[in-house]
Amino acid sequence: MMNKQGRPTNTGDAGDTGSAARIETATGHYGLDHNEPLIFEQGVPGRSGVDLPEIPDAPSRLGGLARADQIGLPDLTEPDVMRHYVRLSRKNYAIDMGLFPLGSCTMKHNPRLNEKMARQPGFFDVHPLQPESTIQGALAVMDELTHWLTTLTGMPAVALSPKAGAHGEFCGMMAIRAAHEAAGEGATRTRVLVPESAHGTNPATAAQLGLKVDSIPATEEGRVDLEAFRAKLGPDVAGIMLTNPNTCGLFERDIRAIADAIHDVGGYFYCDGANFNAIVGRVRPGDLGVDAMHINLHKTFSTPHGGGGPGAGPVVLSEALAPFAPHPWVVGDKDGLHLVEHDGDQGDDAPAFGRLTAFHGQMGMYSRALTYMKSHGTDGLRQVAEDSVLSANYVLARLKDHMSAPFEGPCMHEALFDDRFLEGTGVTTLDFAKAMIDEGFHPMTMYFPLVVHGAMLIEPTETESKQSLDIFCDSLLALAEGAKGNDKERFTAAPHFAPTGRLDETLAARKPNLRWSVAQKPLEAAE
Ligand SMILES: *Cc1c(COP(=O)(O)O)cnc(C)c1O
Repeated sequence: MMNKQGRPTNTGDAGDTGSAARIETATGHYGLDHNEPLIFEQGVPGRSGVDLPEIPDAPSRLGGLARADQIGLPDLTEPDVMRHYVRLSRKNYAIDMGLFPLGSCTMKHNPRLNEKMARQPGFFDVHPLQPESTIQGALAVMDELTHWLTTLTGMPAVALSPKAGAHGEFCGMMAIRAAHEAAGEGATRTRVLVPESAHGTNPATAAQLGLKVDSIPATEEGRVDLEAFRAKLGPDVAGIMLTNPNTCGLFERDIRAIADAIHDVGGYFYCDGANFNAIVGRVRPGDLGVDAMHINLHKTFSTPHGGGGPGAGPVVLSEALAPFAPHPWVVGDKDGLHLVEHDGDQGDDAPAFGRLTAFHGQMGMYSRALTYMKSHGTDGLRQVAEDSVLSANYVLARLKDHMSAPFEGPCMHEALFDDRFLEGTGVTTLDFAKAMIDEGFHPMTMYFPLVVHGAMLIEPTETESKQSLDIFCDSLLALAEGAKGNDKERFTAAPHFAPTGRLDETLAARKPNLRWSVAQKPLEAAE
């Protein structure tokens, strides 16, 4: 069964998946990859990694609040714990292991110089409640990062504190709503226009703010349908949320006309800047009429992401929205740099809408991103954009006659394919992506954007060499040939070589088993 995007709704019977094709080993391990039980299953009562003195008898001062049961942590030695986490880490795929073609995510190399700078004690050990006089260096990093971000985007202000792209969207849309409220139009401007190819966070952000999402169709060539967009304009429109380059990897050529039209009806232009990598140093969003745009420091500016760690999504703001930026921000005077944290601080009486985070944002990301900017310089950043677009077009050119591309012509920093080349093979986009795991690659983004059937979105980034792009393309060409040559089993049962075979993803998402409980513990099995 397929849904409208060509995604299988039933991933098949777990019985005839990858694991059936393997030989059984006595240990359950495959080569040097260990089958790793949960840490709770490995604990043995009484085992310990430390030698603590007996607790002397002393009257309890807990007033009857002492725990009656064991805390339930596993008892393990230090080597048990070390091995557990090192084995788990070997199951992770990472940008430091190989090419990571996940479209929209900009999985680029994080230069080690970034790490060295972020670990300077003055940045690494700084506490958010330290007196201002002791954090002048950290404030200078924030101040200089502000300068780079506003200069690169051609926008006058930036709110640094949002902690991810989605959080930045929330911040930008809060500023837009605050501006409408200040103009007495908060209650009437309730509709947000969002292209149907948008990243899911865009409509989610608007909905979270209680705004109504009105979706704009795309043209045959993958861009906003200008006429359909114009027909939706009206006095109840709060703004548009548009990604540029868009999620089909294409530059929105009508972007100036879109900006003018939204401004003409009193709305604001929110730009999703997650794809800034394609245009950094070449195009200034401020020149395109953008009012607010988040920048994923963890994409364009190479700070690490992908493991659920901290990101950073600063939002640049136009002159009209700058007064509504959330606290804090950095100002300087003859005594040094200061954080403006409250209305009225530093003579500021702008109607900021408050704060988005408890403290000042992700210091580690600020220092990494600024290191990246300064080590590349403005010419280097421009080359980042040019090389990322070149890499994607190289992949597109090598694969488009063997796979199938939904749109004519060159792309920006991502190459998009659909599943027409798999028609009649019995192989789906999902099967194809799983077979890439056997080839040693993390799959590309699948089934996104939703406007393309069975989409495969590949973003190679500028940090891959031609050699690594060639190995990647050769492997996809071999897979495409295999799929067309009736080698169906290679795909439908993939991954064959991963620690875990094909999962029932629907069941895993709908009924996740996330908690270990004592009752569940098969003690014998762990021993
Ligand atoms: C990554 C991304 C986002 C969300 O950014 P997060 O930092 O993951 O919250 C939004 N829009 C697009 C187009 C993206 O690629």
